[in-house]
Amino acid sequence: MRAVVLGGVGEGLEVVDDHAEPVVGDGETIIDVTACGVCGSDLHVVDGDFPSNLPMILGHEVTGVHERLGPVMVYAPWGCRSCTQCEAGLEQICPDATEAGLFTDGGYAERMRIPGESYLSVLEGLDPVAAAPLACGGLTAYRAVMHGLDLLRDRGEAGRALVIGAGGLGQYAIRYLRLLTDTTVVAVDLDPAKQGTALEVGAHEAFGPDDGIGTADVVLDFLGAESTMVLAAEAVRRQGLVAVVGLYGGRIPFGLGAVPHEARFMSSFWGSRAQLDDLLDLARSEPSIVQPVETLPLVDAQLAHDRLRRGDLKGRLVLTMK
Ligand SMILES: [Zn+2]
Ligand SMILES: [Zn+2]
Repeated sequence: MRAVVLGGVGEGLEVVDDHAEPVVGDGETIIDVTACGVCGSDLHVVDGDFPSNLPMILGHEVTGVHERLGPVMVYAPWGCRSCTQCEAGLEQICPDATEAGLFTDGGYAERMRIPGESYLSVLEGLDPVAAAPLACGGLTAYRAVMHGLDLLRDRGEAGRALVIGAGGLGQYAIRYLRLLTDTTVVAVDLDPAKQGTALEVGAHEAFGPDDGIGTADVVLDFLGAESTMVLAAEAVRRQGLVAVVGLYGGRIPFGLGAVPHEARFMSSFWGSRAQLDDLLDLARSEPSIVQPVETLPLVDAQLAHDRLRRGDLKGRLVLTMK
């Protein structure tokens, strides 16, 4: 089969036309890959930020066709299936997880091994190419919004949610907040073009970081840089919530008096197995969630990475196998 392989940290992606077919064990299954989104985490693997076992096939935003289930989306955070988190259905939090495309061969390939049918969500009614980024980008933003949902619903129309970073994930979060709450949605981004996109996808207000953004009940930080976390801590109200989603590795002082009283600070990582099904249900009833994506053929995976690294994209980029 054709696959795109990362041979080692910092190396270019290699298109292999005669890669070995995936081998499946007991209870495991296989899909023919239709599409695979390109995610910022893929660049972290290339950069050696995760202890991935290379060489490896990248790709964790995967849709495909399963012989029994038909068109499917892969739930890629594969856990150990025996720890407390896995038993609670939170495999993305598993300390021994081997996520597809990050620690185990993923979807930059014509076929892919899946540990079991339970890791496949039936796509039914959704475009497998445009929907692919829901598997990570869409799901990660969904879980972040879910952390603040009760708080925002309690606040009703008086609520204010701040979305820091109006790239792909931030745009998903803005849509979910508009669909699921009556809160005022405020986007913050350095880039005036992204501020414009945020308003297009539903933000009520969009600002640069120095614009006097006011306070918020919930702050979702899709960058996680020190500067954005400082901004989040300044903006969050007492008893509000800050969820850090971005991987920039920022650190801020925390303690009583250092942050607004009883404000909660948490990280948020990917999404649960059940949340993926919930998100796909939401996407079926609210088609605006599945936005057009830009596509490139699998053989152009390196070009896709180069463009993602330059920030030369409006939304998400998806590799297609045909
Ligand atoms: Zn586990
Ligand atoms: Zn991802």
